[in-house]
Amino acid sequence: MNKPPIPDRSRVVVVGGGVIGTSVAYHLSHLGWRDVVLLERNRLTAGTTWHAAGLMVTFGSTSATATGLRRYTRDLYARLEAETGVATGFAPVGFIELATDADRLEEYRRVAAFNRHCDVEVTEISPAEVEVAFPLARTDDVLAGFFVAGDGKVNPVDVTMSLAAGARNRGVRIFEGVAVTGITSGGGTVTGVDTDHGHVEAEYVVNCAGMWARQLGETSGVSIPLQAAEHYYLITDQIPGISREWPVIEDPASYGYYREEVGGLMIGLFEPVCAPWMVDRVPDEFAFGEIAPDWDRVGPYLETAMARVPVSATTGVRKLFCGPESFTPDLQPVVGEAPEMRNYFVAAGLNSVGILTGGGIGRVVAQWIVDGRPDVDVTAMNIDRLRPHQTDPEYRRQRTGEMLGLVYQAHYPNRAPETARGALLSPLHGRLASAGAHFREVSGWESPDWYGEPGTEPDPGPLTWGRASWFEDWRVEHEAARNTAVLIDMSFMSKFSVEGADAGRFLERLSAGRVDGRAGTITYTQWLNDGGTLEADLTVTKLEEGRFMVVATDTAHRHVEAWMRRHAFGEVTIADVSARLAQINLQGPLSRQIMQKVTATDLSDAAFPFRAARFLEVDGVRVLCVRITYVGELGYEIYAPADDAVAVYDRLWEAGEGYGLRPAGLKALGSLRMEKAYRDYGHDIDNTDRLWEAGLERFADLGKPEGFIGSDALAEQVAAGPPRRRLVQILITDPQPLMYHAEVLHRDGKEVGYVRSASYGFTLGGAVGLAMVEGDEPVSKEWLVTGDWEVDIAGTGYPAVVSLTPLYDPGMRRVRR
Ligand SMILES: Cc1cc2nc3c(=O)[nH]c(=O)nc-3n(C[C@H](O)[C@H](O)[C@H](O)COP(=O)(O)OP(=O)(O)OC[C@H]3O[C@@H](n4cnc5c(N)ncnc54)[C@H](O)[C@@H]3O)c2cc1C
Repeated sequence: MNKPPIPDRSRVVVVGGGVIGTSVAYHLSHLGWRDVVLLERNRLTAGTTWHAAGLMVTFGSTSATATGLRRYTRDLYARLEAETGVATGFAPVGFIELATDADRLEEYRRVAAFNRHCDVEVTEISPAEVEVAFPLARTDDVLAGFFVAGDGKVNPVDVTMSLAAGARNRGVRIFEGVAVTGITSGGGTVTGVDTDHGHVEAEYVVNCAGMWARQLGETSGVSIPLQAAEHYYLITDQIPGISREWPVIEDPASYGYYREEVGGLMIGLFEPVCAPWMVDRVPDEFAFGEIAPDWDRVGPYLETAMARVPVSATTGVRKLFCGPESFTPDLQPVVGEAPEMRNYFVAAGLNSVGILTGGGIGRVVAQWIVDGRPDVDVTAMNIDRLRPHQTDPEYRRQRTGEMLGLVYQAHYPNRAPETARGALLSPLHGRLASAGAHFREVSGWESPDWYGEPGTEPDPGPLTWGRASWFEDWRVEHEAARNTAVLIDMSFMSKFSVEGADAGRFLERLSAGRVDGRAGTITYTQWLNDGGTLEADLTVTKLEEGRFMVVATDTAHRHVEAWMRRHAFGEVTIADVSARLAQINLQGPLSRQIMQKVTATDLSDAAFPFRAARFLEVDGVRVLCVRITYVGELGYEIYAPADDAVAVYDRLWEAGEGYGLRPAGLKALGSLRMEKAYRDYGHDIDNTDRLWEAGLERFADLGKPEGFIGSDALAEQVAAGPPRRRLVQILITDPQPLMYHAEVLHRDGKEVGYVRSASYGFTLGGAVGLAMVEGDEPVSKEWLVTGDWEVDIAGTGYPAVVSLTPLYDPGMRRVRR
């Protein structure tokens, strides 16, 4: 083992020499950053990478970012040998996903349409064609295959060595046998790493330590929620007639994937419930290691998997391999700058797709470091979406068992995690449960999704692509908000108090809108970065001079908090008050009458106009009442101290008697806001969007005397005129089909974008969503109305209308078509 003395400084230190660490180093060097050191405790690939199965698949994701990572990775592996002289073993033998039931067929057709939109060359093939491609596979129960000719397999060790060679060629120094023992910092910023060979001063550290990343993070207070789990494959003895040219096959319904391996068959397994490995601590010395297989546990699943290729059952087993792989609480990787420490980047938790996304992950992380912000939508993988409670051992034990299993389960639209629940409870939880709530987890909070009969624990029924059993319950809640009033518990929202002599100037600096105006006013605003793309979408309420409340969505919690702390200046105090305040939403045309019954404060339009924010008393409890809406109706957000929230809630209920007041859940919140085309950061708008593209330009004020972060970039956008890419609202005119996410839009037969998020518009009478579309010319109202629009749902085109302004306009009490 080569162990020269390590340098005492380097601009970047990458920790970990698996596929991810070498890819980050390779891409940094390609971006011109050559002062990079990679430290690997053992030898390159010693962690998880050495034993990966090497599937290189681009099909299967409904995320544009994830699909882009896969495509980039495949292209990189195909060309890397020419650059580095080290082969990657990439063999584009093709890939086939098997659909063996109607729901999976629906899912894969939806995915295929989206993947084609993302330039993945997927085609649907017949069972007979599957049989021709892989004659040993049983196809009698196959409904269709989804074939990608350019996919295939790679050799993960060779890929890593090739990336390392490419990095070395451009100046990266790689040291094996050097363990990083801690990351040092000063003033909240990385200063270097401690190792068993001494200290290395550094500006940036990238933690690519695979399943050890969480433990390394803990040493410096950085929370990285991931957990190793057992992951299996089996290799048979040689099978006569098998060909190395046959495609890789995946049959999720049988838990298996299949490919030729030195004349035999490799059968990989994603069993429905898996086993976490070493929850307390992954041993430092585990290198090129294997886990003793638990035959009893996986035997039945293996049998099911082997039945897809019957000859495997009568062929000897050369190897049953079990190795650890890291899984995360939501099956998305952990990538980006840690909110706890500046310049501490993480790229880990790859959920069994680290090889097939590794090239792309390395590119994104390197570009993010070099440019200071990522050039793709990272909202789903950004480390700051995760919460510290998710590193709790019991949380990891439970959630990991479920997550590996989810890889091959049908990805129904309303599937939500069932394990590690109850981490965060609203102060109203007991009341919501007795009202018949069916709970769903949102960032750890238990939140009602919809309500069944009071006093029951409603059964959500089977998962489906069609109308769920609770569709009518949802409709009732939606219609109550439009016609009478609803109470929605939104205590899960992120709430921050921002105070101090400079609080107003500070928040003006962050916000595109004017937020430090009259006291007692709420402002909906966006925070931009210097490049003029969105960092946050939230409200700022000015309570009095020098006293503000910032409220953002649950998933943006840590991003918003870190953004504030990193930009704070002068005399400003920032406090997270999320758990201290419940947020109760009273919304609907009758909400004022109900609210007026519980307070002596005059709520008339003149005295309490839209955007007013006042403290008032409800049953002797001082609450902050804000007249604002996220559902498009007259309504109030009521912030009550957590300890008094039940009393306030009960009083509102009592007052609502006779007004048709109902509880409403997240499903209704989603359908109501979607009809009004209100945005949701991380779902339909993200860090790559500019204000005008997101349709939010009217909330910015370029005339603010001191400007704001991103104002120069915004001014340039405005000067350039209407963008060619814009978020539009879309409504399917046929009331039957349902949209969820990633449905492709056609204008005059040409693909122009896809649905970023969707719901069902009970008032509009059809599936409604928000889609980013891109035209050859600026996207104008005229461009929208002069086109014929269709949405592709699982291969069928449905006529649709699109609009830049909300199709439902409650102010005018009518539906615009
Ligand atoms: C059985 C199995 C089959 C798989 N098949 C596939 C597949 O077909 N396709 C696919 O895409 N993915 C597959 N995967 C997943 C894939 O192998 C992983 O996602 C990927 O290898 C993760 O790479 P990594 O670089 O993050 O981690 P690792 O490869 O584990 O690298 C981390 C490195 O960090 C080093 N390290 C840790 N701590 C320190 C420290 N303190 N100081 C210095 N060095 C440190 C370790 O020694 C290790 O080498 C499979 C996984 C398993 C288990």
